[in-house]
Amino acid sequence: MEPSISATLRDQTLSLLSSGAATSRADLIEALQVAPSTVTSVVRRLLEEGVILEEGVGRSTGGRRPRILRLRETKGVLAVAELGGRHARVGLCAPGGELHATEEVAIDIAAGPEEVFDVVAATFARLQAATAAGQELLGVGVALPGPVASPDGRLVGPARMPGWSGVDAKGHLAERFQVPVVVENDAKAAAIGEYATRGRESDDMIYVKAGTGIGACLVSGGQIFRGGRGLSGDVTHVRVADSGERHCSCGSRGCLETVASGAALARQLAEQGSPATTIRDIVAAVSDADPTVVTMVRQAGRLLGVALSGLVNFLNPDAVVIGGALSSLDVYVAATRGMLYERCLPSMTQSLTIEASVAGPDAALVGLGHLLRTTADVRPS
Ligand SMILES: [Zn+2]
Repeated sequence: MEPSISATLRDQTLSLLSSGAATSRADLIEALQVAPSTVTSVVRRLLEEGVILEEGVGRSTGGRRPRILRLRETKGVLAVAELGGRHARVGLCAPGGELHATEEVAIDIAAGPEEVFDVVAATFARLQAATAAGQELLGVGVALPGPVASPDGRLVGPARMPGWSGVDAKGHLAERFQVPVVVENDAKAAAIGEYATRGRESDDMIYVKAGTGIGACLVSGGQIFRGGRGLSGDVTHVRVADSGERHCSCGSRGCLETVASGAALARQLAEQGSPATTIRDIVAAVSDADPTVVTMVRQAGRLLGVALSGLVNFLNPDAVVIGGALSSLDVYVAATRGMLYERCLPSMTQSLTIEASVAGPDAALVGLGHLLRTTADVRPS
């Protein structure tokens, strides 16, 4: 009997083939940095399982022309949703991961899993009836605005999700839909969506989701870096200097969240009696060049840069990508970039890309599609 293949190697192989970063055994050997015999046995196993196909002949780089490997196209749909405090972004993906329908619906996350998942399920059903009637549901992916433990998918003390602590969201969804399920933290899902959208250019990337709160994720070698319990990336409670020592939802003081998040900006503006208090208002005020708002947003971006500078010096990533609602504010991204240039070693910033997300507001949905396709064993019946 053939020895079993490590789950990580299997996931990495599927991820490389899915994103198009690898299309042959030679590409896989180079990308995975493993022995040719290892790649041969992983590929053989995936071919036997019918997960991938081998076809045609690729471009030669000198030797024998390589056979092209790709994921098998399947019929059916993947249903994906990113939940926030007040809204959910819901979508359907083709089995290949391309997003083909999205809708925003109002939810109240504090109403708890049963009620929130009722709304999400009804939206899935409505989208499917409108755009993919009769197609089989192959998998469900949900991104949540709180820390999701790995691998069991339970919520761990989510500050922005009252009533959800300890909830087994993955088990709940698997029981409801009876298909493979992926549950992921929203910043991690968005980071992998950004990675899948960018291709191989940013193998080691810090992705920051700057919205009402601030989440982050390190993508390393094209994989989410999860840490021991899956709780990595919690940059929001990094203490920053010049933060005014304000109380934070975590019980500490002076956290990044209290000065650089959308919620912090809204609070500061409300304290000054400004009518601009939602992120949408803030974006509008910045495009009108309201000097008070622009100054506040610039300072928030600089403090994000302070918090990220230690991470950049420590990790030497290829890219720092800012996503989330605040990433549409050029002044925020530019201030973060400026502070990173000021605080990081020149050797680190020389080849460092610092920019707004290219995947945009659908990053998490694209990421969930990618995770379902590559890790949840989604296959047509
Ligand atoms: Zn905190």
